[in-house]
Amino acid sequence: MMHKRNTILLLGIFAILVLITGQYVIIRGLWKQNDEMLYLRYRSLSQEAVNSLRGIRSFDPYDTVTFILNDYSEKVVPELETIRDNPTKMAERKQDIFAFFSKVLDSEQDLSGYLSKYFVNMGFEKDFNHRIEISNLDMIGHNQDTFRIYRAESFFNRPFADRTEVSTAPKGSKSSILVYRYRLVRTNYNIFFEYYIDFSDKRKMILQEIAWSLSMSIFSILIVLAIFIYTYRNLMEEKRLSNLKTDFINNMTHELKTPLATITVAGKTLEMDKIRSDESMILETARLIGKQSVHLNQLINMILEISMWERTQFQLDRKKIDIGEVMNDIVSSFKTGCGNCAELNEKYSFKGAKADIDVVYFTTLINNLLSNAVKYSDKDTRIEIEGMADNSNIYIKIADNGIGISKTDQKHIFDKFYRASSGNIHKYKGLGLGLYYVRKIAVAHGGDVAVSSKPGKGSIFTVTLPY
Ligand code: ADP
Repeated sequence: MMHKRNTILLLGIFAILVLITGQYVIIRGLWKQNDEMLYLRYRSLSQEAVNSLRGIRSFDPYDTVTFILNDYSEKVVPELETIRDNPTKMAERKQDIFAFFSKVLDSEQDLSGYLSKYFVNMGFEKDFNHRIEISNLDMIGHNQDTFRIYRAESFFNRPFADRTEVSTAPKGSKSSILVYRYRLVRTNYNIFFEYYIDFSDKRKMILQEIAWSLSMSIFSILIVLAIFIYTYRNLMEEKRLSNLKTDFINNMTHELKTPLATITVAGKTLEMDKIRSDESMILETARLIGKQSVHLNQLINMILEISMWERTQFQLDRKKIDIGEVMNDIVSSFKTGCGNCAELNEKYSFKGAKADIDVVYFTTLINNLLSNAVKYSDKDTRIEIEGMADNSNIYIKIADNGIGISKTDQKHIFDKFYRASSGNIHKYKGLGLGLYYVRKIAVAHGGDVAVSSKPGKGSIFTVTLPY
């Protein structure tokens, strides 16, 4: 059984993992596909934008840039000529120049604004990041000598580009789109650079595109997970019930064996000559046999009763009865029956409430609670019985000072066959049915029963009945 359960658990987990992996692969494929589509869409859109830009003769998005750079290089070139023999200074200046060019190209251009507007007009997302990549920058001195400020390694591999060429992005890069490839040749400098765009919240855009598939896939995983957990819990529950049944049979066998053993021993005793000559001994043994037979009979009746309770639906024979009186009757006959086994205190404020109950079943309910209170306490048992009523319900509280019930056991004590510290602890005899009946009876009356308890301190059972 244990082995089978583990196999089912492992198989289930394996199947769920396969499902999750499968869904992951599908979603990842979908993501890639959408990523590519987005890329293609914006690339062709950028191309369109640049083509339309060419149509507008008077508009050059790099007007301001060239103006600033011309001005700057006019100042910087003579300076370079003076430090041409000082490599350290030269390197420093080159760095500054490169930084300045990058900054101006980046911030003073109007191309980004133009593209944004174009995208919006076409009904597309307008937010993107742009990036400038300089591949070559030379400053040119008075007599045409060139100061190389920067040259990318890849510069020579690139096809020669006209200043207005729109090209595709380098192969393999699907994240940024090359929009414009520039070449500015001026008196004091020449520069090659590229203008790229990249969508800042591309993730969000793709997520929107695949939202439906993604939620369906998460949903299916959750459903399968839920079904699995449900099935597994059912399996565990079945296992628990079967354990309880085994415990029950063990307990019952033990209960039946005790009186039987006594009777057997008594029978053997009667065979002895010494006993037979003493009449009082015979009488005592006969009484013992009688008492144990009664006990045996009770046990067998109880077992018969169990199967009866199982088969028949509750047939309550309800009558409106003064609950205070019923409680008094039950408790006093319990006291007599158990021979002052406990100190019982009653405190009722039912305000004359008349409950609609089946007295026989109700008596069983209270008796079960009282006998448990006696049974599960070791000495000086004190039982407080409290009764009250509000507008709609009657409450009966039975509190004892016994051994108490642990939190985990509290959850199960009303289950059929359940016994706390279950197994074969025979110190307290029982079959694990008393509280099961208590709850069954309470529920059949439209009420319920609850427990609160602290191990070592005692337990309180509260029965609620509507009236
Ligand atoms: P049984 O008494 O035959 O074992 P019950 O259904 O009456 O079965 O009770 C279930 C379990 O709840 C008992 O085994 C016992 O451990 C615990 N229990 C019930 N009543 C009390 C009580 N008053 N004090 C402590 N434990 C109790």
